[in-house]
Amino acid sequence: MSNQQEKLGFSKKSSGVVLKDVTKIFQQPDTGKDFVAVDHINLNIHDGEMVTLLGPSGCGKTTTLRMISGFEYPTSGNVFIGERDVAKVPPNKRGISMVFQSYALFPHLNIWENIAYGLKVAKCSQEEVIRRTDAVVEMMQLTGFERRFPNQLSGGQQQRVALARAVVIEPSVLLFDEPLSNLDAKLRESMRDELRALQKRLGITSLYVTHDQSEAMAISDRVVIMKDGVICQEGSPAEIYEQPNSRFVANFIGKANFIDGTFRGLDGQAALVEVGGKTISIPAPGRMAGVQKDGPCCLAVRPESILLSAQEGQLPGRVSRATYYGAKVEYEVMLGDQPIIVEVYNPQLTERFAEGDEVHMTLIDRCVRVLA
Ligand code: ATP
Repeated sequence: MSNQQEKLGFSKKSSGVVLKDVTKIFQQPDTGKDFVAVDHINLNIHDGEMVTLLGPSGCGKTTTLRMISGFEYPTSGNVFIGERDVAKVPPNKRGISMVFQSYALFPHLNIWENIAYGLKVAKCSQEEVIRRTDAVVEMMQLTGFERRFPNQLSGGQQQRVALARAVVIEPSVLLFDEPLSNLDAKLRESMRDELRALQKRLGITSLYVTHDQSEAMAISDRVVIMKDGVICQEGSPAEIYEQPNSRFVANFIGKANFIDGTFRGLDGQAALVEVGGKTISIPAPGRMAGVQKDGPCCLAVRPESILLSAQEGQLPGRVSRATYYGAKVEYEVMLGDQPIIVEVYNPQLTERFAEGDEVHMTLIDRCVRVLA
């Protein structure tokens, strides 16, 4: 149990969550046809871990979250919270709390009553309700707001109340469904940091759903990327960004260039890839699934992993656009007829180029992945 948990008088330990071969099929109301929203997924969220489901709209994130919460039952497969198979257990018996985009506060109850509500439903003693509610009010910096009603608070404050209400009942798992989507960009960033700090302090196992990739990167121990109802890749934010296993993931998280080439074989661990008549050695090419010797492949490279020089480099190009952003200059460089995006940070310290300049690009080889 963490210090903060002890301070709040938390008695329960949080639990891991396991999804085993979980599928959800919906019958489409318009056509009557079956639609596979979640397709045989396996996921293991460790005790105290913060995992984010990330993916484009319709990929099955919310359906997965709803199967853990109990608002949806899987068509097949098992959902475990701790040791318990909860696939058929209703939401209020699962020991979970949910935080929604819409806050879902009771408008007729004041802030203190909103936070205390779950403890009263759980039939805690009056003394315990007061002690725990007061502790969470203080922890969430809501002191002074207790007697206000939800419509007398800002969006950020309301979301803090929603979070307070979720944690006060000592859930073994916290589920977040796009909780920050209603907030403006600046507040979203500070709430994100606050939420992450709270989750770490309390050590509650958490699953977070978003389609905002920077939010996912900033908040998670592990990011799970979904597409069309399946998990395409999971890993720490750094693994996902630095070692994407497909063009989809490379493109979905951050920006990526895909430079077409031909795979010429291995030199020890390094992959030899021919691009524009030159052979480039890539020391850590990744798994290279689906790449055949002498077959087509691509080099996935981030815009900040390409160096530009007027004098020399691996690949010649011509600048077709230069956009100054202060912290960086973003260039579009034509490699033949393929536009390559290059980002150069600290522009004061580096050579500058203008539209029409002939340049040479050098790929920072250890940052390049070889994909099919
Ligand atoms: P978003 O980011 O837009 O919220 P998502 O990844 O959370 O998307 P889901 O809400 O899980 O996606 O939906 C996955 C697919 O399942 C979608 O194509 C959706 O239309 C479909 N779907 C979800 N709920 C139902 C339902 N009750 N009946 C029929 N189809 C559904």
